[in-house]
Amino acid sequence: MLNESVLILNRSWIAVNVANVRRALTLVYQGYAKVVSPEDFSTYDFDDWRELSKAADDYCIHTINFKIKIPEVIVLTVFNGVYRRDIKFSRRNIFERDKNTCQYCGRKFKKWELTLDHVVPRSLGGRSTWENLVLACVPCNVKKGNRTPEGATLPLIRRPRKPRWLPYSGESLSLVVKPSWQKFVDAAYWDVELKD
Ligand SMILES: [Zn+2]
Repeated sequence: MLNESVLILNRSWIAVNVANVRRALTLVYQGYAKVVSPEDFSTYDFDDWRELSKAADDYCIHTINFKIKIPEVIVLTVFNGVYRRDIKFSRRNIFERDKNTCQYCGRKFKKWELTLDHVVPRSLGGRSTWENLVLACVPCNVKKGNRTPEGATLPLIRRPRKPRWLPYSGESLSLVVKPSWQKFVDAAYWDVELKD
């Protein structure tokens, strides 16, 4: 039960992530989030939710001292950033961040036509980090060679950064979405600009 999925909304009530119950309740307990009732959008802090849980007879976690209802949706009460450490530094997430777009010529490509490029080449001490890895198409990659963007006069279209939020992919969403999440997960969500 602690591994059930909970939808996380940011302060603007936009769906930004999914966490397990343990993580979601921790955020609520720590005051970083409130539980949302999907029926009427009312919000509850930990104590309110615990109080309300007394009357619930199913879907609860029982601890030694009390029982608590499993939340399905929570809303963050703090500015973005709680999830910073949860974004996995992975090839897939770099593709998501750069939206399959070569960061030098700005054109969109198929995944297999793109490579990961070290902005500052490894031979010059460049490391594999969010700030130093970008997507590049093969022609740009070849043109750049073992040089910096300045050295190759190939400026980046934007400075690579660690994204603050990474939406889960469309596939996984359709697998895990719950009826109670539906109204929070709309088209607008997918157009949200990832800001740093
Ligand atoms: Zn390119």
